[in-house]
Amino acid sequence: MTDDAAPEIDIESEATERLALRFGFDDDQTQLFMLLTGAASLFAEDGDPALGDDDAERTEALTLFTQALNDPTIALAAWDAWAEEGLTGDKLQPFVDEIASHTDDDQPGLSWLLSRQAALRLDSDESAQLLESVRDSGHAAVLIDLAALQADGSNPIETRDLLQAAGVNTEIDLDAAYDPITSEQGLGTELAEEIAPFAALRPKPLAGRNDTCPCGSGKKYKHCHLGKELHSLNDRAAWLYLKMMRFMQLTNPFLPDAVVAEMTSSLETPDLAEMLESSYIPTDIALHEGDVASRFLMAKSALLPADEVELTERWIAAPRSVFRVKKSTHAELDLVEVRSRDRVTIVGTVPEQPLEVGTLICGRPLPVGQTHRSYGGFLPVDETMIDGVLEACASRNLATVAISLSQIFDAAEMADALVAEAGFDQLDDES
Ligand SMILES: [Zn+2]
Repeated sequence: MTDDAAPEIDIESEATERLALRFGFDDDQTQLFMLLTGAASLFAEDGDPALGDDDAERTEALTLFTQALNDPTIALAAWDAWAEEGLTGDKLQPFVDEIASHTDDDQPGLSWLLSRQAALRLDSDESAQLLESVRDSGHAAVLIDLAALQADGSNPIETRDLLQAAGVNTEIDLDAAYDPITSEQGLGTELAEEIAPFAALRPKPLAGRNDTCPCGSGKKYKHCHLGKELHSLNDRAAWLYLKMMRFMQLTNPFLPDAVVAEMTSSLETPDLAEMLESSYIPTDIALHEGDVASRFLMAKSALLPADEVELTERWIAAPRSVFRVKKSTHAELDLVEVRSRDRVTIVGTVPEQPLEVGTLICGRPLPVGQTHRSYGGFLPVDETMIDGVLEACASRNLATVAISLSQIFDAAEMADALVAEAGFDQLDDES
C-alpha cells in the first residue's frame, strides 16, 4: 500500500462531524444537518438549480429543510456553520426565501431563521415579530433569542425564565469570573452567564408597596414598578459592553479575528496573536473603529433602557487616545490625556499591579457618570510613539489603528504589553 492509496480525508465532512460532535447529534440529526447545510452552500453558489428540477424531489427536500430547522439543535448548529462559512446574511437569503415560499407561515425553525436574517439587516422590529409569532412553539432557539431581547432591555428575570423554558441551565457559579472571550459558547449558556449576577441580585425597591410609584404614573408602587426596577446604571455599564459583544457575535463574529490578523501581519512574534486573542483590545477596536457600536445602537435603541441609549452614544463618541499615569492604586487609575490635559479617573477595571506614575498608555476610557471604565484595556506607549499613535487614533480607521498599535509590540516587553484587562464581574452589593 503506497501513500497514494491512503484514505482521502474529506475536510468538509470532518468539519461537519466536528460540529455534530459538539452538538451531540444522533445519526438522523447529523444527516439532516448535513443535508441542510450542504444544500444551503450549493444554493448560495449555484442558485435555484441546486435543488434539481424534479418538482417532487424539490418539495421533498424543502420539507426536510423545514423539518431540520424545527429541531433547535440542528438550527443553531446550522447557523454556526453558515456563519463560519460566511454565508449568513445576503448570501443565505435566497435559500431561506426558497424554503419560505414552500412552507406554512407558522414553522418555528423557519421563522427563527428569518428572524436571525432580519437581525443581520438590523431590522429589529421584523426580527422580534417573527420570534413572537412562534413563541408558543417552545422551539428552544426561538426562546433563547426572545431571552436575548429581554436581556437587551436589562430584564434579567424575564431573560432567565425564557432560558429555563428553553432548557438552558441557568444555575451559574457566580464566584467563577465570567469572561465572554474564553467562555464556552452556544445554546444560550453565554446569555445565562451574562445575566446571572443581575438575576441573582435584585435592585432595592424604590418605595413602599402601597406608596405612590416614583415613576409618576399615579398608581401604587406594588401595581406599577415593584419588581421591575432596573439595576443602577453604574452596574449595568459592564452589561452594556457585553450586550455589544453579543450583538457582534451575531452580526459580525469574525471582526475581532480580522483585527488580530491586521495587528500581527507585519510581526514575527508567535505569541502575539494568541495573547491578543485573549485580550479585549481587538474587541474594542472592532466595536469602536469597526463601527459595531454604532450599528448596535441603530439596531437596539428601541429595546435598551433610555439611560443605556445615552450611555452608548457617549461611548461611541469616546476617543481612543494616549494618556499619562498620574496616580495608580488598586482601586483607581488617574490619567491625563497627553494633548487636551483632560483628567480621567478609571474605576472598576484597573490593572492588577498599580502602574508607575508617568507611564504612557494608549486606550479608550469609557465614561460612566463622573468616572470611567476601561473594558478594552491599555497598551504601553513610549515617548517617540505619541504623535504617530495619536494620529492613528484620530483617523478612527480600523486598519490604521490596528497597525499603529501593533508597533507598540515591537517596542514593549511582551510581559508588560497588556497593562489592564477588562473585568465583567463588577456587580457590587451597592445596588
Ligand atoms: Zn411606576
